[in-house]
Formats: sequence, structure tokens, C-alpha cells
Amino acid sequence: MPMENTLQDLVQKRDRLKQALMQIEEMRQGSLSESYRKCGKPTCHCAREGDPGHGPFYVLTRKDASQKTVGRAIPVRFVEVTREQIKEYHRFKELSKELLEVNEQICDLKLKNPDASSSESVKKNPRNRPRP
Ligand SMILES: [Zn+2]
Repeated sequence: MPMENTLQDLVQKRDRLKQALMQIEEMRQGSLSESYRKCGKPTCHCAREGDPGHGPFYVLTRKDASQKTVGRAIPVRFVEVTREQIKEYHRFKELSKELLEVNEQICDLKLKNPDASSSESVKKNPRNRPRP
């Protein structure tokens, strides 16, 4: 069993994750593949044995909303930027997963402890202080 977090810990963690998510930059899904092609001209260098062919050519493939695979040609000068965008997407996914997880824990904790139902009341001035 992992150590029990307090609601305050969890709320802080949630806020950190939300901050990190706001800093996500351009992102896109998919994977980049590199390929070489033979043009078919018998006199071209690519016809020689051991020649890799023309390229590299880059294609970004991903599944669209209906799970159909779509490909996008990526010009060589965009390869680096595309790699960054893909990396950013993975960061986004990871952070979203963590954010969901911490929210689950917060909700569970509140179920167990209804007094803590307002995260604001934890920070300052508990409203439920008995009056004299
Ligand atoms: Zn060729």
C-alpha cells in the first residue's frame, strides 16, 4: 500500500499538474517513419547495388478519430520540430493520466471524509468552527 496522502497534498499535486498542462506547447500525435525510394531509372545511382535510394523521406502516421490510419508527408526541415511536437503529445498524455489519477484520489478521499468536501476550506478559515 502506498502512503496515504492528505487532501492538501493531493490538491497541491493536482494544481502542479494543471500548471504543467498549461505549459504544453504545440503537439501532435503519431509516429514518424523514415524511408528511401528507388526511382526506377536504370542509369540512376539508386539502381546500383547497395545504394539506399533517394531520401530520406519522412511520413507521420497516426490514427484519426475513426481509427483510420492517416499519413502526412513531413519535409526534412520539419522533422526536428515534428519530433518535438510528438514528444509534447506524450508529455500531455502522461500529465493527463496523472491528473485524472490524482482527481480520483481526491474524490475517493472526499467520499471517506465528507467534512473535507471543500478543498478551499482546508487552506484557510474553516467555516465550520463552532461559534461561541
Ligand atoms: Zn534514382
